Amino acid sequence: MNIETSIERDVNDAEDVRATHPVPEVRISAQARDALGAAARASLRAERGGILIGYRETHDVVVEDILQVPDSTAGRTTYLRREGPAQHALDAYLDRARADDALGYVGEWHTHPRPAPPSPVDHHAMRTMARRSRQPVALIVAALRDDHRSVDLHALISEPRRLRDRVTGRHTVAVVSME
Ligand SMILES: [Zn+2]
Repeated sequence: MNIETSIERDVNDAEDVRATHPVPEVRISAQARDALGAAARASLRAERGGILIGYRETHDVVVEDILQVPDSTAGRTTYLRREGPAQHALDAYLDRARADDALGYVGEWHTHPRPAPPSPVDHHAMRTMARRSRQPVALIVAALRDDHRSVDLHALISEPRRLRDRVTGRHTVAVVSME
């Protein structure tokens, strides 16, 4: 089983795995994975980022979709998630998706224009997010490889109830390849 499959395994499978590996994990839908890959490929000149939409399943975070939140000041290696535009994007999405009340904010994402994993700044931001949320939140970094086609998805997850300000769980990596 490769890593990509393991973070996308279905719910029944996940129950079994949880019994032996009770570690929270981030699961990413094909739709969200494709959107993260596309954003990373489009981020060579300026990083992109935004909000993760999904739900929690026990202590896992399931990412169904992503929202882009524009940052007009983004540079090649900087992206700042702005509170006002982020809230606006989230509200607009939730209005459209009202039929599915289970969906909501589950974390944040941004791109890296080169194959770099989450930085110390990213880990710090993750701890801040974890302190603000009573529920697990995820941070996904979509890092573009040097071929400018393949993208590594680095997922961090918090578990605030047990460890208030620490990032827990595996640092999982899935690869999105250009088809
Ligand atoms: Zn970063």
